[in-house]
Amino acid sequence: MSRIVGIDLGTTNCCVAWLEGGRVQILPMDDGSRVMPSVVVMDAAGPIIGAKAKRQATVNPTQTVYGAKRLIGRKFKDQKIRHWGEVVPYDIVEGTLGDAWIEVEGKKYGPEQVSALLLGELKRRAESFLGEEVSSAIITVPAYFNERQRQATKDAGNIAGLNVEHIINEPTAAALGYGATQSKDETIAVFDLGGGTFDITILKKEGDLYEVLATHGDTFLGGEDFDQTVVEYLADAFMESTELDLRTNPVALQRLKDAAEEAKHALSGAEETPINLPFLMENAGNPLHLNIDAFARSHLEILATNVIARLEQPCFAALQSAGLLPEEIDRVLMAGGMTRMPAVQARVEEIFKQKPEHHLDPDHIVAIGAAVQCGIMAGDASGVTLLDVTPHSLGLRIAEGSNRDKMRVVLEKNTTIPTSVERSFTTTADMQDVVRLEVFQGESDDTRENVCLGQFLLGNLPEVQAGQVEVVVSFTIDADGLLEVSASEATTGQEATIEIETMGGLTPEEVENLRAAAAGIG
Ligand code: ADP
Ligand code: MG
Repeated sequence: MSRIVGIDLGTTNCCVAWLEGGRVQILPMDDGSRVMPSVVVMDAAGPIIGAKAKRQATVNPTQTVYGAKRLIGRKFKDQKIRHWGEVVPYDIVEGTLGDAWIEVEGKKYGPEQVSALLLGELKRRAESFLGEEVSSAIITVPAYFNERQRQATKDAGNIAGLNVEHIINEPTAAALGYGATQSKDETIAVFDLGGGTFDITILKKEGDLYEVLATHGDTFLGGEDFDQTVVEYLADAFMESTELDLRTNPVALQRLKDAAEEAKHALSGAEETPINLPFLMENAGNPLHLNIDAFARSHLEILATNVIARLEQPCFAALQSAGLLPEEIDRVLMAGGMTRMPAVQARVEEIFKQKPEHHLDPDHIVAIGAAVQCGIMAGDASGVTLLDVTPHSLGLRIAEGSNRDKMRVVLEKNTTIPTSVERSFTTTADMQDVVRLEVFQGESDDTRENVCLGQFLLGNLPEVQAGQVEVVVSFTIDADGLLEVSASEATTGQEATIEIETMGGLTPEEVENLRAAAAGIG
């Protein structure tokens, strides 16, 4: 059997791990670090990937793509994407089916392609380190990722030439990675705050059974948002003294962003830190500098007040869905680089009424868990069972009849997966021979506020009076959180025709073409 590796494909950093003789190994990068920055420079001579790309960001800001995971599975018109587009130096454009894509030097890329470049590079590095082919992977995703975002991640793996054996949730992986080192039965909350996304997962560990009780989160909340508050503050301060807006200059903006993140890191250890950016801009030939002698931790905390406040509601919602009080959680595990910020730790302590665990390895624990899962699949860690949940409710919009935009929930959020359910519907018009069903994911009563995953037409129905044709729709979610929908007409047993139209992402042919193209280059 060929090698399977676990890959944490983060918004900010990627990490690869696998099991070797029952022990977890983490892939070292050339610079000795064990994570690779999720940054790609779309250079004319070929993509530059990882730490080297990150170092070039200030030279080449408009060609440097970072945080592409924030675009994955999202629409160009999405409010959050509009806002993100104003913040990043590269161009976000409308791709096929209205998806959010990236444009560099007149060439358009789907976020799946950017993720595929990262995954391909990780595959190559792992192969060169191991001296053997790496053909399969388990890839982690934020627990709160919807079906579209999961499918896009799987597509990215396939484009990179990887067999994606499994998609697992990042916080669940973290719990698995942690559980591998201790044997107590307990109820655990995993708080995972990275660069782009936030997840809170509550699970019960009983022997080798890991059962997720509830998950919640925000796929647009992370370190990037903390950095942005500092960038805005610095740019405003600069504008006040010089009347020049740094935000209009991509190179200056990128330098500002790097300085903001660096200061944020320093303030997790120190009470204050200087920010010095010489020669940031010019005014009539005169160089302008930005110098702050002492930027204080308390100041960062004030700037980030609203961002930190957004961490609360998902935690309370997860506790409520799990039917637990904070006191009933035995342990709070932290994952993700942002959990190093003291104010984040303090807020977690307030919410869960206990000190979170810090001895974890927040940068690698997700990949470690994915490696453990590889071991489970390869039979090295038999007995371990993982039961996860679907993070969002799934439902239908039935275009005919009254109340057309109503979300009819078929599967409630936090249902244990894999699972399958059936629902029956009857026709609403006489002689109706076609039913159009639209599948949505989300918590609103109004489908217009939820994500449309696809629609299908059920045709060739018997032409009889309204209400006399019964259509049975079944939803099946696999262990990766991916959905399959089928429908049939139950009254006469007459075979109905189904036409399915997806509302985003790549078709299997497009994935295959991109895979072939990538293999040709690589
Ligand atoms: P992802 O899962 O999104 O790839 P990570 O778990 O690697 O992200 O976390 C990256 C985020 O953590 C970034 O926003 C980074 O600035 C932040 N971070 C890393 N180290 C620190 C630190 N010492 N203090 C505060 N934030 C940090
Ligand atoms: Mg992460």
